[in-house]
Amino acid sequence: MNDASPDYDIAVIGGGPAGLTAAIALAETGAKTALLARRAPYADNRTTALLGASTDLLERLDVWPRCRDHAAVLQTMRLVDDTGRLIRAPEVRFSSDEIGRDQFGFNIDNRSLMAALESRAGELSGLTRFDDDADAIDPQDADVSIRTRQGQSLTARLVIGADGRHSLAREAAGITVTHRDLHQSALTFNISHSRPHKNISTEFHTPQGPCVFVPLPGNRCSVVWVSSAKEAERLMAMNDDELSEAAEKQSHSILGAVRVEPERHVFPLAIESPGQFCRNRIALVGESAHVLPPIGAQGLNLGLRDAADIADIAGQAMSLGEDPGAPQVLTRYQSARRADVMSRTFAIDIANRSLLSAFLPIQSLRAAGLHLLGSIGPLRRLAMREVLAPSWRRVS
Ligand SMILES: Cc1cc2nc3c(=O)[nH]c(=O)nc-3n(C[C@H](O)[C@H](O)[C@H](O)COP(=O)(O)OP(=O)(O)OC[C@H]3O[C@@H](n4cnc5c(N)ncnc54)[C@H](O)[C@@H]3O)c2cc1C
Repeated sequence: MNDASPDYDIAVIGGGPAGLTAAIALAETGAKTALLARRAPYADNRTTALLGASTDLLERLDVWPRCRDHAAVLQTMRLVDDTGRLIRAPEVRFSSDEIGRDQFGFNIDNRSLMAALESRAGELSGLTRFDDDADAIDPQDADVSIRTRQGQSLTARLVIGADGRHSLAREAAGITVTHRDLHQSALTFNISHSRPHKNISTEFHTPQGPCVFVPLPGNRCSVVWVSSAKEAERLMAMNDDELSEAAEKQSHSILGAVRVEPERHVFPLAIESPGQFCRNRIALVGESAHVLPPIGAQGLNLGLRDAADIADIAGQAMSLGEDPGAPQVLTRYQSARRADVMSRTFAIDIANRSLLSAFLPIQSLRAAGLHLLGSIGPLRRLAMREVLAPSWRRVS
């Protein structure tokens, strides 16, 4: 990368996983691309279940070969009703071989994924890195002016807002967002365990939210434990022995003896949806465009599809001599993303609400739905394919 010229086809604001992927994919199309992202160590211990075509995209961008060794294969997903309620759903198992795949995807720690993305981004001569935050973003008729916190200025025809939940780019575009606090939090930590996970991800549905054990390489799993904010605080305050015991109890000892590894984090959960995905030469990707609770592992998978779509649409527009920030190009991006993001937001919200509901008819409906999924093969296979990618995007 070089640190020069102020005028770009595209400027990506934010260097999280969605922004780095978008910047790499855009630079790969030949667009003169700027990336505004402060270099900082990745802050938490989250892992990401990369599903379906997400790793194909990362493979194409020459990112996946750099981190593949840190990922565990996900072959089976198991849902266990652990609500202890009168009406309980049967256990449901989804196996990738049922839909003719070797695996659903891979679980990888975000630090390894980020290191691979950073390493690839650092190789691209068409990608200029500004090791800084954007401080002001000002869309005009022909371009967008950006000023960095340390006072550098640049202009770009299209800005990609990949600056997360409190997006300055979204605000500059004049895009409003609806925010709903879920009054739940996710505690994340990693464990080692005495029995093999056999590449099975197990989700225990408790009355406060799901607690999922997702395979990592070796006899290790990442744990995302969703509960009330108060319960998450209680778990967070435990010492290692207490949390190991609580995790083993919550897993019903299916992984044998559990030992928590150092480091844990709590994430308050919310759902956020923007009024639009793009406006005024600014297109949103990743969490600036959608915030979901970590149910069904959809968040970053959606963010990677945002990145792939904006790179395809802007790259194609430029190859036809179009301005990548022109309204008709942004309209194509809006059409490409809306149904995917909205349908997943809706499905996850319903799944979460039905789990938390104390209303008996809702609990019965939920149990009946899971029973149908468990017992009707074609329905189960449809659901599996839909979790991996929306039907209208699939090529096979
Ligand atoms: C507990 C938990 C588990 C999850 N598990 C999964 C999973 O298994 N699978 C999955 O697909 N998703 C998962 N997700 C969702 C996933 O983690 C997020 O979708 C993803 O991290 C969002 O990435 P991002 O790049 O959009 O945003 P971020 O990672 O928030 O990156 C935004 C970046 O922009 C930078 N920034 C902000 N303002 C500026 C500015 N003005 N100028 C420049 N830079 C700026 C920030 O510093 C940050 O680096 C999970 C989420 C949680 C909370």
